[in-house]
Amino acid sequence: MPTDRADLPRVDPLQQALHELHRTQALLAQTEQALRASQELLRQGEHFNNTGSMRYLLQQDLMVCSEELCRIYGLAPGNNLIRHEDFAALMHPDDRQAVLDTVAAAIAIGGTIRVEHRICRRDDGEVRYISGIGKPVWVDGAFTEYVGTATDITSQRRTEYAVRAAEADLARVSRATTVGQLTASIAHEINQPLMSIIANAGASLRWLDRDPPQLAQARAGLEDIVAEGTRAGNMISGLQDLTRNTEPVLQRLNLDGIIGHILSISRSEIERREVALQLSLGGPAAWVSGDPVQLQQVLLNLVVNAIDAMSAGTTRPRVLSIRTVVDAGVRVTVQDSGMGIAPEAMDRVFDAFYTTKEGGMGMGLAICRSIIAAHGGQLTVAHAPDGGAVFGFSLPLVP
Ligand code: ADP
Repeated sequence: MPTDRADLPRVDPLQQALHELHRTQALLAQTEQALRASQELLRQGEHFNNTGSMRYLLQQDLMVCSEELCRIYGLAPGNNLIRHEDFAALMHPDDRQAVLDTVAAAIAIGGTIRVEHRICRRDDGEVRYISGIGKPVWVDGAFTEYVGTATDITSQRRTEYAVRAAEADLARVSRATTVGQLTASIAHEINQPLMSIIANAGASLRWLDRDPPQLAQARAGLEDIVAEGTRAGNMISGLQDLTRNTEPVLQRLNLDGIIGHILSISRSEIERREVALQLSLGGPAAWVSGDPVQLQQVLLNLVVNAIDAMSAGTTRPRVLSIRTVVDAGVRVTVQDSGMGIAPEAMDRVFDAFYTTKEGGMGMGLAICRSIIAAHGGQLTVAHAPDGGAVFGFSLPLVP
């Protein structure tokens, strides 16, 4: 039997609309709650990671910053809309142009932005290190905005610097320890001129006490005192060079350039001593990270030693050969055709105060070795194939 529609309970359309409204309101409240929860999670996540997020609306030239980003940059919490120009003003003046160039180059091709730079916070001016990344949002083949994050890496950077400083201290301490072990030989070396000074002073006094005083002999004794005193002074200053806090001031430099400089200083000496120079340089690729003054000191020492070794009564042609070879690092060798080094002296040439030269101090190679070690290399010596000695070291290549 067909049901009469009039028998069905009547649904009041108003009631139904109200019911729908309540349902939608409840759904909305639920969604809002979920949204708030996820925003809170995001906020906390950003805070824990020291990472703020942002959108950069290209057309409006506006950056929309998250709360954490405002905190990192020292912006007032409500002040989360900022023009790109004002944002750029917060970058450290020394880093600003490089960052702006990188950002402009990325935007020109719709590429990813990756930058590391310093900022000066707006509220207290404190300098902080930031690692930023931005990606374009592409819609229908065009992009209108970038979304990105900025991470505050200040404490990371400070830790890195502290580690580097600690490493430098450690290197200095180990050098100082080596010097400590040398105390006995230092005492011995300094004692010799002192004894000679005392003996000469006594003798000079006696020459002066004569009647008549023997001035010429007294003067000769005093001249010896001056010479011995100077020798002792030189030893002490050489030692100070070794122990001084000579942390290398590193910069990117071309080793061939350093060699060229040293040769320009020593060219007249090379010519005067009739030494033939053979150069084989690695050329424009020989870039290392080094302290130019210290590396010049090393190369000058090696060149002077080589020239000295060839002046000492050898009849062979005098050839000084300097090479740089670039492979995994830059290898430098300074080779001579001099008298060479006796096998038993090979280990000792780097010892402080080891010298076979009259008037030599024996500090040169000790200082060279510690300089090269502070640059991450090792100074070594070998017999040259046809007599003579070859000193060499390698330093890491830098791009
Ligand atoms: P110094 O030049 O004052 O003697 P160095 O430390 O520079 O001090 O050298 C120590 C010693 O090593 C020299 O006295 C010498 O005996 C030896 N030596 C250094 N370079 C050479 C060389 N190219 N050939 C032979 N012997 C060398």
